Amino acid sequence: MASAERLDGDVLAARLRQDLKARVAGLRARGVVPAMATVLVGDNPASLSYVGRKHADCAEIGIAARDIRLPATTDRQELLAGIARLNADPAIQGFLVQLPLPAGLDEAEALEAVDPGKDMDGLHPVNLGRLLAGRPGLLPCTPAGVLALLNHHDVPLAGRHVVVIGRGALVGRPLAMLLSMPGVDATVTLAHSRTPDLAGLTRQADVIVSAAGRTDLVTAAMVRPGAAVVGVGITYLDGQMVSDIADDVAGVARWVTPRHGSVGSLTRAMLLKNLLDIAEGVAG
Ligand code: NAD
Repeated sequence: MASAERLDGDVLAARLRQDLKARVAGLRARGVVPAMATVLVGDNPASLSYVGRKHADCAEIGIAARDIRLPATTDRQELLAGIARLNADPAIQGFLVQLPLPAGLDEAEALEAVDPGKDMDGLHPVNLGRLLAGRPGLLPCTPAGVLALLNHHDVPLAGRHVVVIGRGALVGRPLAMLLSMPGVDATVTLAHSRTPDLAGLTRQADVIVSAAGRTDLVTAAMVRPGAAVVGVGITYLDGQMVSDIADDVAGVARWVTPRHGSVGSLTRAMLLKNLLDIAEGVAG
């Protein structure tokens, strides 16, 4: 069985972190200490792990990082006041509110309360709107990571048909926008849970990106030989992270992400890239 080239997000992310380190050195040489903050409400184990990795990346790269922990009982006013303090803090160039928030807190409201100029996640409606308007600013990190991965492996996108599975606001929808931007020039179909005959659609694709969070959603029978297949969605099976892409896809695709890998490390690299873009902009 032919075996596909592995689209390894971790390898690319390690390279990107080296580039970011050099940018941090440049900022520090000009007297600017890049500094970010994370706001974690409650103690969701996955969120604790994600936040921990973000701080580990900052330590590696030389970015100062403030780890703000709020109890699960935090109410709307307290959360919004914490966000307002970070918006006003000149020592912090960018920050994020870790999702999901505990029940009772409004995620959309929290994202919207972040100063768009400090929105490392690129998820503020202003930044998503700029992408939609064709004037991208801070990009949403997971879509930006997927594009970086495809570009790094020279997967052709211009004029090619990309099927994005999943219309979530975090990944699928902004990724469809990004891939169809002038300069990238893919023809994008955005599929979702109400799309009939998903397999018929994906079999016409040059590139498939699945951001649904359904184990083994994309199987070999759904892939045209020679296609590139990227798994973004994740589920946990027996404590192990599994992507949306079934094992047998590697026998048909030309490029594929690993079953137990994810683009998480690339998402984090793009997060810190956004921070440095902000810091360099502020430094002038
Ligand atoms: P979401 O829940 O908002 O969206 C999921 C989408 O998948 C929905 O639009 C739904 O219509 C679609 N979907 C579900 N089942 C489907 C099916 N059987 N066929 C076709 N479409 C189907 O999720 P999100 O916030 O956009 O995140 C998407 C996935 O990406 C999740 O699994 C999330 O955990 C993962 N994710 C990974 C990273 C990373 O860095 N690796 C970052 C963010 C999100």
